[in-house]
Amino acid sequence: MALLNSMRRNVCLGFQKGAFSAGITALKSKFSAEALKLETSSFNSGLNFELSEELQQLQDMARKFSYEEIIPVAAEHDRTGEYPWDVIKKAHALGLLNGHIPEHCGGPGLGILDGCVVTEELAYGCTGIQTAIEANSLAEMPVVLAGNKEQQKKYLGRMVEEPLMAAYCVTEPGAGSDVAGIKTRAEKKGDEYVINGQKMWITNGGVANWYFLLARTDPDAPAGKGFTGFVVDANTPGITLGRKELNMGQRASDTRGLTFEDVVVPKENVLGKEGLGFKIAMGAFDKTRPPVAASAVGLARRALEEATKYSMERKTMGKPIFMHQAVSFMLADMAIGVESSRLAMYRSAWEVDQGRRNTYYASIAKCLAGDVANKCATDAVQIFGGNGFNSDYPVEKLMRDAKIFQIYEGTAQIQRMIIGRELIEKAKMTTM
Ligand SMILES: Cc1cc2nc3c(=O)[nH]c(=O)nc-3n(C[C@H](O)[C@H](O)[C@H](O)COP(=O)(O)OP(=O)(O)OC[C@H]3O[C@@H](n4cnc5c(N)ncnc54)[C@H](O)[C@@H]3O)c2cc1C
Repeated sequence: MALLNSMRRNVCLGFQKGAFSAGITALKSKFSAEALKLETSSFNSGLNFELSEELQQLQDMARKFSYEEIIPVAAEHDRTGEYPWDVIKKAHALGLLNGHIPEHCGGPGLGILDGCVVTEELAYGCTGIQTAIEANSLAEMPVVLAGNKEQQKKYLGRMVEEPLMAAYCVTEPGAGSDVAGIKTRAEKKGDEYVINGQKMWITNGGVANWYFLLARTDPDAPAGKGFTGFVVDANTPGITLGRKELNMGQRASDTRGLTFEDVVVPKENVLGKEGLGFKIAMGAFDKTRPPVAASAVGLARRALEEATKYSMERKTMGKPIFMHQAVSFMLADMAIGVESSRLAMYRSAWEVDQGRRNTYYASIAKCLAGDVANKCATDAVQIFGGNGFNSDYPVEKLMRDAKIFQIYEGTAQIQRMIIGRELIEKAKMTTM
């Protein structure tokens, strides 16, 4: 039944209201006709590595978008750091943004696996541009998970209507991995909260229409009870934007510090209820780490394909360099990484789409894919030789862009800590 539900979700892809291209409308109308066929065939197979036909078509559309709209402008956005509004508007019009917004808010209500398939394709084009797009999902997920119907309609609904951005504000100058150490305070005064504090490294910080913000509401309570999650409109008085940070990679994305000084937020903007913020903020990662892994897979695949092509063209000692075993083994290791990290990513997305807790799989996928992306990008630069070190070729950007996959949404070390903790929990359960 769970499998059937998952197939149905893939079959019943919907897209954002208002701005469908002819291609998507055609894609959508095919779904119901295909549904019956897929349901029948799904009984015959246990494990299935095939994407549904509809998901393949969604993948094709995202791939085409990546080739036609992202790749041609990626190097320029990397050079200038200009925010990719044009690409975002086109992606929004096609329904490639905000895929997980529920249908009652006008969104398509896609599954995490569906989103991951799109993400890999967009990231293949440029992970800087894709991260700007994905940061919306990170900010929206706490509202999807814990928002009431009014909050969801108000803040998710507008994302469907217009190409708006949102940001997830948790990290602070003094606390990233140690989320329990954040200092931003929200004090209740009557029917309002007054927020004071600083956030750091906030993706989409300078372009967001609203923020998900985690703040301490009880200074004495443990993390599980002391924090509250808020939705904060970006135009609320008292919010000051820092400069756009000059990062090593993913430069199309807008990353900033933000200061909150006596920012007044109505109690209606509390997500869930006071004290649940830590759980909500961390719970979002189970649904957002699979897409981060998908993005890393997209980058690793790009590195592999660029390096393979180059190795067939470049000749040394009278033959294409791929004929040298040292080079072909590097390519083989890259392929092993891409294939295995994609499988881990699919598994982590599929688990959560079944309604099961996927923390273990999400951390494995994010950690593996982040490490693989770094290895693949570094090896691609190696295969390009001197050209790899130069910005006229695509792979030095991949190497700079890849590093962040071992840092944001939980560092590589934090993912290993989570996996270790999950292992111990499982072991305790089986020995009890
Ligand atoms: C480009 C970019 C975009 C980002 N976007 C966002 C965003 O949109 N929203 C947001 O809230 N945050 C965002 N972040 C913040 C990001 O999630 C944090 O940088 C990350 O979690 C690490 O925190 P930190 O920088 O404070 O490093 P620290 O926590 O200080 O860690 C420093 C080092 O110590 C290691 N370490 C720390 N604790 C342990 C431990 N217990 N055991 C082993 N090793 C440990 C870490 O792995 C790391 O190597 C972004 C960061 C960057 C750079």
